[in-house]
Amino acid sequence: MARSPLEIGGSTVKAGSRAQVEIPVSRLITGAEMSVPVVALHGKSDGPFVWLSAAIHGDEINGVEIVNQVLGELNPKTMSGTLFAAPVVNLYGFITGDRYLPDRRDLNRSFPGSRKGSLAGRIAHLFMTEIVERCELGIDLHTASDHRTNLPQIRGDLDDPRTRELSQVFGAPVMLHSKSKTGTLRRAATRSGAGFLLYEAGEPWRFNPDAIATGVAGVRRVLDHLGMAPYDGAAAGTVIESRSSRWVRAAKSGIAHLTVDVGDTVEAKEPMGTIDDAFGKRLSTIRASRSGIVIGRVLYPMVNQGDALVHIATPVDAETA
Ligand SMILES: [Zn+2]
Repeated sequence: MARSPLEIGGSTVKAGSRAQVEIPVSRLITGAEMSVPVVALHGKSDGPFVWLSAAIHGDEINGVEIVNQVLGELNPKTMSGTLFAAPVVNLYGFITGDRYLPDRRDLNRSFPGSRKGSLAGRIAHLFMTEIVERCELGIDLHTASDHRTNLPQIRGDLDDPRTRELSQVFGAPVMLHSKSKTGTLRRAATRSGAGFLLYEAGEPWRFNPDAIATGVAGVRRVLDHLGMAPYDGAAAGTVIESRSSRWVRAAKSGIAHLTVDVGDTVEAKEPMGTIDDAFGKRLSTIRASRSGIVIGRVLYPMVNQGDALVHIATPVDAETA
């Protein structure tokens, strides 16, 4: 029996085909209509419903590229299940290169939202009802914020066996156990019964080739694992599990010269750079607060006392050794 068509955003998508739909959100002050663009790949045969979302923070554009590359590789005629791809969820922030919405709200603190709520709440509600509530799994793509970069990593509740399994399958170099925060898509999606992988990689406002390639391969491995679309790319490498991480912060205000990068391993107390004044005089040595792997770092060298400099995660096997 042929698979039934998909209804989304007022459109009907036949099995084995692809459609781009615009889900209307609101109007700009000038009257132009604003909508969240969603591509639906409605596979030929039955299978899971999965979504990909990016740019919930409008300046985090690596995920936009990941979504587009994945879409370019998939063919609904040979696919099972249905993939919703929303490369630009915070369309307002995306246009202006801003993390937030025009009302200064963080969309990723506005879920599940409501139909009559703030602009952020309305977009959140729309995304929940049109996409999330129909899916069994979502992969939400983020980057670091505020002039920082992240080593490609999956964050999630690793005590949940399904999340743990899919994090392994995704194959980013690190999977970090973390609890979800109130108002996040992750919290709302989990409560609505969907599995959830949060991918964090690279920096805002830039394309980071490694973050994009790791993300594309990870998404493809997960879709392959779910039986939606076979992937013949490289198998995942070793995934380091961590349940504990901490930022090393600036002891002094000045100019940070870091000598470590994301992916490096460091020993506790090891020097990771210096903070100097504008004339090169050393004010402070930056030292590792713990042994582990560098999963994030600041890129902008001008730092104030207390600013986050280097994010170190402790691997689980080191913790128990
Ligand atoms: Zn983000």
